[in-house]
Amino acid sequence: MPVVPLRPLLQAAHTHGYAQGAFNVNAVAQVKAAIEVHEMLRSPALLQGADLANGFMGGRGDFLHSTLEDKRIGAKRLGDAVRKYGENSPIPIALHLDHGKDLDSVKAAIDGGFTSVMIDGSHLPYEDNVELTREVVKYAHPKGVTVEGELGVLAGVEDHVFSETSTYTNPLQAIDFIRKTEVDCLAISYGTMHGPNKGKDVKLRKEIVTAIREILNYERIFCGIVSHGSSSIPKYIVDEINELGGSVSNTGGISIPQIQQAIHAGINKINVDSDIRLAVTRNLREFFANHEDKKNSDTIGSIYKLLQENPSQVDPRAFITPIMKTVTTGDIPNDDVEAIIAAIENGVKEIVGTLIVHFNSVGKAPLVEKVTLEGMKRFY
Ligand SMILES: [Zn+2]
Repeated sequence: MPVVPLRPLLQAAHTHGYAQGAFNVNAVAQVKAAIEVHEMLRSPALLQGADLANGFMGGRGDFLHSTLEDKRIGAKRLGDAVRKYGENSPIPIALHLDHGKDLDSVKAAIDGGFTSVMIDGSHLPYEDNVELTREVVKYAHPKGVTVEGELGVLAGVEDHVFSETSTYTNPLQAIDFIRKTEVDCLAISYGTMHGPNKGKDVKLRKEIVTAIREILNYERIFCGIVSHGSSSIPKYIVDEINELGGSVSNTGGISIPQIQQAIHAGINKINVDSDIRLAVTRNLREFFANHEDKKNSDTIGSIYKLLQENPSQVDPRAFITPIMKTVTTGDIPNDDVEAIIAAIENGVKEIVGTLIVHFNSVGKAPLVEKVTLEGMKRFY
């Protein structure tokens, strides 16, 4: 099956009462691992590259300073990787741009082979958000590409996504926004938060999801509802990182039962990034704890040094810059790099596999209507 647009995946999740996990990837090896575990569990797959993550994949170790050209190169590499491992897959696979910043980022992603894009205008005044999102829809839909917008502001940090306070989404405004922009899915604010420090005992306002879903049903409009900042931040992984020389504190996530209640209320797509970062960081630390001799390896010894220097860091991108060529192209030069790549892949599989089960998307691949980008063009 070719790489497909996101919209049919969202419709299947809505119709059959499960949620589509949306997993962030920052390396060719993560693409491979994520696709393999979805295939094993017969789940539809949705991989996503965040705007700045595409800069990282473009070879930019200091990805916060990514240029448009870096993002273009990175989006193409990610698109190539998804096609390489997914083109002949028995499951439907979509590739989505997470937190697209502007029309240029969106164009770079679509040119690279992304079949779905998010435009995040949530920081803008309402009318400006509508206008920007509408502009992206007008560009993407004629190409068959799915569009996600965002309304309401999440607290927390996710790359360049900053906000001091959280402002929940107004359900009435959400409906107005969906009508005016014609987005296929909408990220809302209802108590989730980006990053690994969501606080203790986060309470989600599921009522906001219910309200939006009820009105959409009543008005006979289909729009997927998206939950960002939804990592569960497993305590066992945080504990292991700290036992392995890390120093990570004040972590907190969204409990799995709360996420499952949100799925019942009408959430269709759940974004997960932090959990994967934690599992990969733990695996990198564990690898060097178990392989003393690799601490001085010519190719991967400097990864160990970076782990030592940054005990509180949980973003693997801070550690894997010494093997950027392998990260961005998938080329593996020797056994040491191969062993590190295996540690990265296993971290992805642990989280993605667990959450596919919790989100109840196991076995759901055949339920997704087979629609290509060409087919979506005709639909729009
Ligand atoms: Zn987000």
